[in-house]
Amino acid sequence: MTRELPSIPPGIPEPGLYIVATPIGNLADITLRAIRVLETCTLIACEDTRVTGKLLKHLGIKARLQRLDDHAPPEVRARLIDQARSGAVALLSDAGTPLISDPGYRLVREARAAGVTVTSIPGACAAIAGIAIAGLPSDRFLFAGFLPVKDKARRETLEGLAEVAATLVFYETAPRITRSLLAIAELWPEREVAVARELTKLHEECRTGTAASLAAHYAAHPPKGEIVLLVGPPAEAEAPVADVDALLRAALDDAGPGKAAGQVAKATGIDRTVLYARALELKGE
Ligand code: SAM
Repeated sequence: MTRELPSIPPGIPEPGLYIVATPIGNLADITLRAIRVLETCTLIACEDTRVTGKLLKHLGIKARLQRLDDHAPPEVRARLIDQARSGAVALLSDAGTPLISDPGYRLVREARAAGVTVTSIPGACAAIAGIAIAGLPSDRFLFAGFLPVKDKARRETLEGLAEVAATLVFYETAPRITRSLLAIAELWPEREVAVARELTKLHEECRTGTAASLAAHYAAHPPKGEIVLLVGPPAEAEAPVADVDALLRAALDDAGPGKAAGQVAKATGIDRTVLYARALELKGE
């Protein structure tokens, strides 16, 4: 049985700048709002006109394209902002959500400063797709973009993130994944790691394990395609259980289990649901 799709909301978008997410591999991941904006906007600013041209061809949309990358001179952004005062200007990147390890930050900042309305048309984003399927704590995560290419800089970046009590999310490339995993294995041999590859595509996979086991796997089977690398937070065991109980007991003096768990989670970085279960136990003692 074929299902009726909801109709695309009618209406020409108001003037302004529209930040439009596009698919990260599976062309079906374009949203109805994105299609509406793309077919009615007066101009599309994009990283690579050939890449965006292909997407528009697939959607059967003809539009004016203007190249915009991080190296564009300020006059190009000023012109786009000027056009967004009287018409809808869309900003697209090659794939996924613009500004997420992609150009657009300066344009958005300057458009807002100029009083131009900036509207998000959300959709696919590899970092979010990765965190959604990795099975690592998702209540708190830190997106850290691409790791540096050089060994020393990569190590320093990782060391700078050692204390972060959250899942770390990186973008990575297939040729570099093994070296990055080896660097992580050296610093954090115990942590749970996930490699989410080719998300939304035919050969999507998400492999989990220690960094050393994943490095061994990818050294033996060099991967292809695009990768999100996720590293679980420091072990909860680092905070002694007795201390956690003391913190929870103190918090339970003037708060219910939910609020107490929230407060201790904030202070320690320990998963809130684990703390909530323990707070219920302590309250029942
Ligand atoms: N703006 C995009 C987004 O919203 O995800 C990211 C652009 S960034 C230049 C490209 C990186 O995103 C790739 O090197 C890879 O790390 C990640 N990526 C993009 N598509 C992906 C996919 N289908 N599967 C896994 N990672 C992907």
